[in-house]
Amino acid sequence: MALRTLKPKVGTLTSRVKRYRPGDEAERSRYRDDTQPWRRWYKTARWQKLRMSVLVRDLFTCQMCKRLEPNTSQLVADHKTPHRGSEYLFWKDTNLQCVCKPCHDSSKQRQERRA
Ligand SMILES: [Zn+2]
Repeated sequence: MALRTLKPKVGTLTSRVKRYRPGDEAERSRYRDDTQPWRRWYKTARWQKLRMSVLVRDLFTCQMCKRLEPNTSQLVADHKTPHRGSEYLFWKDTNLQCVCKPCHDSSKQRQERRA
């Protein structure tokens, strides 16, 4: 029973992997969405709302360099503990902090790679 429901999914997954061609950016992004479903969570209205509530709560101030950044496109709602696909850690507002883009892209990414 469980096996029968699982099998078709495995089939579609392998055909998706075969279709994947390196170098095609759109295809690569689709491939990532398929293999990392949490990427889709960033596109939801729920995330947009949560992200904004974190930026407001932290007063648009980067929690790493303490700089006030009024331009919200330069701010990131950053997961303190990397969620690594965990729905709980992803949506938990106490696990989120407002971080400016330069800080997020430099130190935070390095930290995550190390972990
Ligand atoms: Zn910063």
